[in-house]
Amino acid sequence: MPSVQLVIITYRDIFHWSARKRENIESGADEKSALVRLSEADLKGLGIVDGAEVMLSNDAGSVIVRAELDPDCPQGLGYMPVSRYSNELISYGINEAKLPNFKRIEVSVEPTGGEVKKGRKRQSSRKGTTDKIQPLHVYQMLPGTDCKVCGCGTCMAYAFALIGREKVLADCPDLQKEEFKESLEFLQGYFGEIAGEVAETGLLIDKEKCFGCGDCAIVCKKAITSLVHSGSVVQRDDVPPVLEIINGVVEITNWGSCKRTMNPPEYCRLCEDKCTSGALEIVR
Ligand code: SF4
Ligand code: SF4
Ligand code: SF4
Repeated sequence: MPSVQLVIITYRDIFHWSARKRENIESGADEKSALVRLSEADLKGLGIVDGAEVMLSNDAGSVIVRAELDPDCPQGLGYMPVSRYSNELISYGINEAKLPNFKRIEVSVEPTGGEVKKGRKRQSSRKGTTDKIQPLHVYQMLPGTDCKVCGCGTCMAYAFALIGREKVLADCPDLQKEEFKESLEFLQGYFGEIAGEVAETGLLIDKEKCFGCGDCAIVCKKAITSLVHSGSVVQRDDVPPVLEIINGVVEITNWGSCKRTMNPPEYCRLCEDKCTSGALEIVR
């Protein structure tokens, strides 16, 4: 089957604005976003015509969208509206960079041979991908004004803080307005309606998914021995490990060493971020 390599460039389209102002955010914009605009040379390389269905894949995930001819698009590039489809292809490694990889998204493109009705997500190809909500998904449901009323410098920072359970939905006043009703309802379904719904911080382990690589225990060991105080890093030694691999799976051996149990807590989630199998989930 023919395939081409593309660098995807995302952009905001006029329908994002009209959808947010006049329609249900998920309706028209969603269908229009399931699109990649390609050069004539790349359409030919794929052996497809304008409007055919293609699958875009990389290490972050895969999506099926329609390919549309764009005579102004240079060969080797593809233009996609910012949407949940383009988000599926964005990688994010908190240990590599502070921001997700929004730009220069490299993908492999293949024709599917199918007709396009509506964009859809394919089963993600990321190893052990979980259904955890991603900061970018949260961000796209926020007002996007960076007004700082929530106490965060930007709406993106607030999205991270929500996921880390450092902020609650009520901290964003604009999110409570009628125009964001659907976003709020969705986020309430994920984060809970009220602050402190999860009484204590904790770490859930899905032992079926854990394959005992030990990566979480290694990052945790580094995490618990270095604390940040007043902008400087303080080393603390002789801290018993939180996580250990016992009989091929991870176990919590000393939860009291976790930075989340400190007073005040440090909202670390390195172990969860490091685990590629989705076996770990931080709660609150
Ligand atoms: S209060 Fe809401 S709109 Fe303002 S920065 Fe925070 S998240 Fe963004
Ligand atoms: S929880 Fe994840 S990172 Fe930790 S040992 Fe298991 S598979 Fe590896
Ligand atoms: S959240 Fe706790 S258990 Fe996980 S890496 Fe951080 S300190 Fe370790």
